[in-house]
Amino acid sequence: MDKKEIQTILEEAMEKGREAIPYGEVASYIPELSKADKNHLGLCIYTKDGRRYSIGDTNVRFTIQSISKIITLAVALESYGFDEVFEKVDVEPSGEAFNSLIDLDLSSNKPLNPMINSGALTVSSMLLPKVTFSEMKLFAKKLCMDPDMELDKDVYNSEKANISRNRAIAYLLESKGIIENDVEDTLDLYTKMCSLTVTAESLANLGLILANDGIDPTTGTRLLKTETVHTIKTIMLTCGMYDSSGEFAVYVGIPTKSGVGGGLVSTVDKEMGIGVFSPALDEKGNCIAGRPLLEHLSKKLRLHIFDRSSKMDIE
Ligand code: GLN
Repeated sequence: MDKKEIQTILEEAMEKGREAIPYGEVASYIPELSKADKNHLGLCIYTKDGRRYSIGDTNVRFTIQSISKIITLAVALESYGFDEVFEKVDVEPSGEAFNSLIDLDLSSNKPLNPMINSGALTVSSMLLPKVTFSEMKLFAKKLCMDPDMELDKDVYNSEKANISRNRAIAYLLESKGIIENDVEDTLDLYTKMCSLTVTAESLANLGLILANDGIDPTTGTRLLKTETVHTIKTIMLTCGMYDSSGEFAVYVGIPTKSGVGGGLVSTVDKEMGIGVFSPALDEKGNCIAGRPLLEHLSKKLRLHIFDRSSKMDIE
């Protein structure tokens, strides 16, 4: 495929995404997020061989939200090992909303997976004795190759002032003996991680490092172990889009994680990272432009995990 053909496909994908935006709404349960401009749309693709494609609003800063769950999980897996982490949190798709506590209360004694709030709160709690928020922020900056990443204090304060549901989940976890460290400190670390700022570019970098087996391709430095990266990517595929994960895996087939700030990070194994930003969300809390946009890229560039014959190679 030549450069012009690739550019055309990216522009078509943007168009598909843009068409979906009117059907979505920006998150409002964290009041500060409702100030986002619904019409923002950015797409950024970074390939392992050094090509960079950026279209639209790729420099606009927004909060990482649930995409931080992959970073906290990665650090927990590396500090405790798989057995200890997965003793506290399962790896099964939930089929419920990201902030649900139904399964946890009624049928399961541990969170179904680390991508929903109950699972991520559990993982955050485990991290309390091991790392500080500043250390986590520093590591997130490296994983996103984003030195300008900061805590968005307005979003953080806004979420902290409206945190009843996560607080309910966290105390339920404590009552079941799953959260063993301080609940309020757990909520604080979790909310701070969600309030870190990124751009579509930083998310493309994160996706690229995951595609590249945990190694920063610009410096050759290994940031995560191979086993950690395999596990993160698998969980992104099975649970990264909450209760749309199955459908997303069928039609897009690229491991992806969403956040209610409007970000998506996707990782095409051994090949590229993709960052998308568009704050209008669907009813599951995923960026509504993401599915049609990524589905188009996946089909045209053959990026589906079971249909990999990438057309991105420039002839
Ligand atoms: N901070 C948000 C929350 O806990 C993250 C949710 C999300 O991005 N899906 O509700």
